[in-house]
Amino acid sequence: MTALNGEDEVAGLCRDLIRIDSTNAGDNSGPGERAAAEYVAGKLAEVGLEPQILESDSRRANVIARIEGEDSSRDALLLHGHLDVVPFDAGDWTHHPLGGEIADGCVWGRGAVDMKNMDAMILAVVRQRLSEGRRPPRDVVLAFTADEEAGGTYGAQWLADKHKDLFDGCTEAIGEVGGFSVSIDEARRLYLIEAAEKGIAWMRLTVSGRAGHGSMLNGENAITELAEAVGRIGRYDWPVRLTQTVRTFLTETSKALELELDLDDAEATVAKLGPLARMIGATLRNTANPTMLQGGYKANVIPQTATAHVDGRFLPGYEDEFFQTIDELLGPNVTREFVYHDIAVETGFDGPLVRAMADALLAEDPGALAVPYTLSGGTDLKAFSRLGMRGFGFAPLKLPADLDFSGMFHGVDERVPVDSLRFGVRVLDRFLDGC
Ligand SMILES: [Zn+2]
Repeated sequence: MTALNGEDEVAGLCRDLIRIDSTNAGDNSGPGERAAAEYVAGKLAEVGLEPQILESDSRRANVIARIEGEDSSRDALLLHGHLDVVPFDAGDWTHHPLGGEIADGCVWGRGAVDMKNMDAMILAVVRQRLSEGRRPPRDVVLAFTADEEAGGTYGAQWLADKHKDLFDGCTEAIGEVGGFSVSIDEARRLYLIEAAEKGIAWMRLTVSGRAGHGSMLNGENAITELAEAVGRIGRYDWPVRLTQTVRTFLTETSKALELELDLDDAEATVAKLGPLARMIGATLRNTANPTMLQGGYKANVIPQTATAHVDGRFLPGYEDEFFQTIDELLGPNVTREFVYHDIAVETGFDGPLVRAMADALLAEDPGALAVPYTLSGGTDLKAFSRLGMRGFGFAPLKLPADLDFSGMFHGVDERVPVDSLRFGVRVLDRFLDGC
C-alpha cells in the first residue's frame, strides 16, 4: 500500500465531511448521518479496516471499527467523534456552511470546529499509520457517532445500550471538547483537556391551580404560583463548589499566568481569564436557567395549568444538592419532570494516558501546558462512561492567539486553520505511539 500522509490529507477530509449535510435539528427529521458514515467507512476500508455501519433508525448511522494493537491483551482505547452538526442560517455566514471552502488558511463550514475537524484528524492519522503498517501499542476502537447534538439517542446512547460488545475491553476514551490551545504569550499556550462534564437536567415544571373568571378572586392562580417559582429559580445565587478538576485548572492556570489565586474567591481569578471566563465561569457552580414559559389562552380566563422549562446543570458530585435546592425553590405546589436527564462525569488528571497527551503536545509545541477543565455541557462521553470508560476531551489544535475558538461552537463562521489540523495529526500520531 502506498503510504498516505495524514498532514496532507486532513484538510481535504475535513472539507469533504463538511460538504456532506448531516445537520441534526433534534427531531429526527434531517438528512441523518448515513452519507457521512459511508464516507468515513470507505476511508477506513481503504486502509484495511473492516468498519461496520450501524443504523439506529433510518439514515441515523454510526461507524465502528477496531484496530488491532501490538498487544491486544491490554485494555483498549476508544477514539470517538460525532458525525452530526447543528443547523445553521446560511445567510449569516461569510462562506456557505456546507461549502467546506478553504480560505485565509482555514477550512470553513458547519462542523469545522464541532467536530468534523477531529473526525478528519482521526481519519488522517489512522490512514497514515495503517498505510505505513504502524499499529498502536494496544487495541484502538474508532466510533463515529450519530445524534450527539441531540443527546445521542440514535448514537452513543444507543450504541452503549445495544452494542456493548463492540467496545469490549475499552477502559479509556478520547473525544471532544478539548485539546485546543489558549495563548498565554508568544511562547506559551495552555491546552485545555476536558476531564469532567457537568450533568444535565432539563425539567418541565407544572402547576395545576383552579381555573376561573379573570374578574373574580382566585387564590389558586397557576400562573402566579408558577411565575414565582420560576423567579426563585432564575434569581437563585448558586454557591461556588470547587471540584477536583476546577481546583487543578485554577491552580495550574493561575501559576502559568502569574495570577494570585484565592480559592476562597475563585470567581475573582476566573474573571481575569479573558475569553475563557465565559467557559470556565459556568463550572464553578450548579446552574439553573428558566428557558420556556407557557400558560393561559385568553386575557379574562385564569387557566387550570401553567408550565415552564428549566435548563439545569450540576457539577460532578453535586447532583443531590442540586435537586434538593431545586425542590426547595419550587415549593410544594409545583411538580417537576425530566425532559432530559444525564449524568455528570469526572476523572482524575493523572496516569499514563494523561502523560501521553501532555507529552505528545509538548513534543510538537515546546510551550504547551496541558491543564484539565470541566465542560459545562455534555458529549458522547457520558454514554461511553456508562460502559466503564474514563474519558477526556482531546482534539489537539494549536490555534492563533486571536482566534476565539470556544466562541465558534454552534456559532457562525466556524473555521479551523489548516495548520492547526496538521498540528493535530502530528500530536495524535505521537499520542497513539504512546498510548
Ligand atoms: Zn460536538
